[in-house]
Amino acid sequence: MRFRRLVGLLILIGGIFFVSSSDFQPMMKQAVSTVDQHLTQIIQNFKTPRLADKYETDTKTKESSQDSSSSGQVKATPLESNVQGRTLKRTYYYRFASGTPDRVKQVFEQAVKAYNKTGIVKLIAGSGSQKQNQIVFSTYNSATKTQANVIELGVGGPEIIQQTGWDAYTANHARAKLNIHYAQAVSLSVAMHELGHAMGLDHSAERSSVMYPVDQGVTNLSRADLAGLKKIYQ
Ligand SMILES: [Zn+2]
Repeated sequence: MRFRRLVGLLILIGGIFFVSSSDFQPMMKQAVSTVDQHLTQIIQNFKTPRLADKYETDTKTKESSQDSSSSGQVKATPLESNVQGRTLKRTYYYRFASGTPDRVKQVFEQAVKAYNKTGIVKLIAGSGSQKQNQIVFSTYNSATKTQANVIELGVGGPEIIQQTGWDAYTANHARAKLNIHYAQAVSLSVAMHELGHAMGLDHSAERSSVMYPVDQGVTNLSRADLAGLKKIYQ
């Protein structure tokens, strides 16, 4: 009885091994990283403040009606499409591209501290391995205007690496950059915004969010921003 059971078990194990080993080859070949990246930008609108003001009035009305209807419930800041529905590990390793000016390093370091303070994510100086979340901070120099009177202060975004097969893992190899063509780009608010993108936050219509697409000088993560981060990291 015992023997028969053992034989049955061995056949079962053999069967599993056969099925998985026949799957193994094509799976290994398929285990190429699927890379999905999305970079978005923060801009500054110089000559059309009225438009921005009108926008503020509109969104504020919406916000207050929402707040009163759902006590304590915050509508989370939207997420970048490639992190939606994913849970990422909360630990990131960050480093600076060579030649990054000290003043840029300083604002990014400040932004890192602010995100670490939330307790939702943990950013550690260093390179990390292929399987770990990484962020590279850097600069670029571009005078190109995205629209009339609108300048681009920075770009940032997640790049999701998804490995399938026996060695499956998901990691975010993100980037955040400041456009040093403009002095005002080297600021904590822009660094907070681009780092937010790097970790998966998308633009928000709320002016209190660091993810508002036009720089407002906001350096504190809003409750909605925190709720967005929690969706990805908890
Ligand atoms: Zn942006």
